[in-house]
Amino acid sequence: MGARYKRILLKLSGEALAGDREYGISSDVARYIAGQIQEARTLGAQIGIVIGGGNIFRGVAGTLDGIPRTMGDSIGMLATVINSLTLRAHFLKEGIPTKVYSALAIEKTVEPFVSEQAIADLEQGNVVIVAGGTGNPFFTTDTAAALRCAEIQAQVLMKATKVDGVYDRDPALDTAAVKFDTISYSEALSKKLRVMDMTAMSLCMENDIPIVVFKLMEPGNLRECVEGKPVGSTIIKEA
Ligand code: UDP
Repeated sequence: MGARYKRILLKLSGEALAGDREYGISSDVARYIAGQIQEARTLGAQIGIVIGGGNIFRGVAGTLDGIPRTMGDSIGMLATVINSLTLRAHFLKEGIPTKVYSALAIEKTVEPFVSEQAIADLEQGNVVIVAGGTGNPFFTTDTAAALRCAEIQAQVLMKATKVDGVYDRDPALDTAAVKFDTISYSEALSKKLRVMDMTAMSLCMENDIPIVVFKLMEPGNLRECVEGKPVGSTIIKEA
């Protein structure tokens, strides 16, 4: 089976990269992600990635320690650059050609994000990681993922999570929680299912970008999502 999607945007949370640790980066998880990306690439899919920074710093958490939100958010955005560069290092080790761009200017380390350049890189077979979130405080990397997805003209946003889809309640707290195979943006928003924040969901909704939510630590899941197999939950206009 080939790729159903020619170009995808994969959203990884920073937390995922921490693995079993409370914070920081697990090399095992980074290697695992590289393996999953390699597998998906063999289908011919072009892959863009946005990774969060929650394994290192979150601006909101900083406010609890008296750090002004905008300062904390800058730290959080820098954390996404650390994660992106770490992923690239692991990808290159596995022979995956990878470019990193950033919404934050950090000369000599990462080039600024320009969508046309990113698309050209993708078409040449590179994985493109876009760091630095949206480059603005008060946003999340989920919103950055939705934004970059639209900008690189990807056909789908794949959100890799700890759980295997979208549930009507938190499955970790309630064993009776029911998983949705498909659900509409408006229902996910009205039921406050917290798949992604409202800004990210609205961007996807306005640009008609389907969102596939799937479990990251299940080998083969990413490849199956790219093949269009029914993995996880899909959020679309009309469910
Ligand atoms: N952030 C930001 N603007 C953005 C994206 C992220 O200021 O456009 C900051 C914010 O402080 C956030 C942190 O970066 O808490 C890490 O991002 P996020 O919480 O989305 O990471 P994840 O939960 O995916 O690990």
